Amino acid sequence: MDFTSLREAFPLIAGRPGLVYLDSAATSQKPKRVLEALDRYYKELNANVHRGAYRLSVAATEAYEEARRRIARFLGAEEREIIFVRNTTEAMNLVAYAWGLRNLKEGDEILVTEMEHHAGLVPWHLVAGLTGARIRAIPLTEEGRLDLSALDTLLTERVKVVSVVHMSNVLGTINPVAEIAKKAKEVGALVVVDGAQSAPHLPVNVKALGADFFALSGHKMLGPTGAGVLWGRYEVLEGMGPFLGGGEMIREVHVDRSTYAPPPQRFEAGT
Ligand code: PLP
Repeated sequence: MDFTSLREAFPLIAGRPGLVYLDSAATSQKPKRVLEALDRYYKELNANVHRGAYRLSVAATEAYEEARRRIARFLGAEEREIIFVRNTTEAMNLVAYAWGLRNLKEGDEILVTEMEHHAGLVPWHLVAGLTGARIRAIPLTEEGRLDLSALDTLLTERVKVVSVVHMSNVLGTINPVAEIAKKAKEVGALVVVDGAQSAPHLPVNVKALGADFFALSGHKMLGPTGAGVLWGRYEVLEGMGPFLGGGEMIREVHVDRSTYAPPPQRFEAGT
């Protein structure tokens, strides 16, 4: 690997030989081409997307939708299954509230793991508190792996959702998500994958994982802060109500009621 040209690609690092940045798992530095693309957007294309019929707005919309197409290819998904959010945290909250709040009830169980990031845990705490559902966790072995021998006892018909981190931000462990998803499907549970650390490091094909949701943060994979993605299986998204309300996610609005656009727009309220 040519470290000199690699360093040159990152303006914040280039020209600072003393600077060694090893915190990319928290947030990555941004390469010159990403910064240039952002700069070009604001200088040449900036307009609100999906809001105007004038040329600039159409061009901005096309660029936005091209980003959606590229993300879909990157994840092995369909375009209509890609929802832009701020980050993994918002993606996990979207699933917990838009799906969990409406589908969980007392007696149901949410199965997580003992190595979840707070973003994969706290949204479920909040929704469990509102629905009466109970949270259980797959324990860890001494080597920091998931103790899958516990799965057969934990995965009962009561489990309605299994929410698992693909790659641990603390341990680096890569979890066998496809295997867990297959077992979760046998009891009819929904599978949510926190891909914040795996998307930057592993080839990901969401369909091959057998999950229903996959969340990632652009800022951990050389992209700008404030742009993340939630992938959702279309049949599941179609059956869900919105998370946030506002512009762009509606079909019809009256003073006392509104109807909602199909996914992915249903989940992309506001600018
Ligand atoms: N999940 C994992 C595994 C993470 O490592 C992180 C961030 O460190 C997150 C979720 C939350 O990401 P964000 O702060 O971009 O929402």
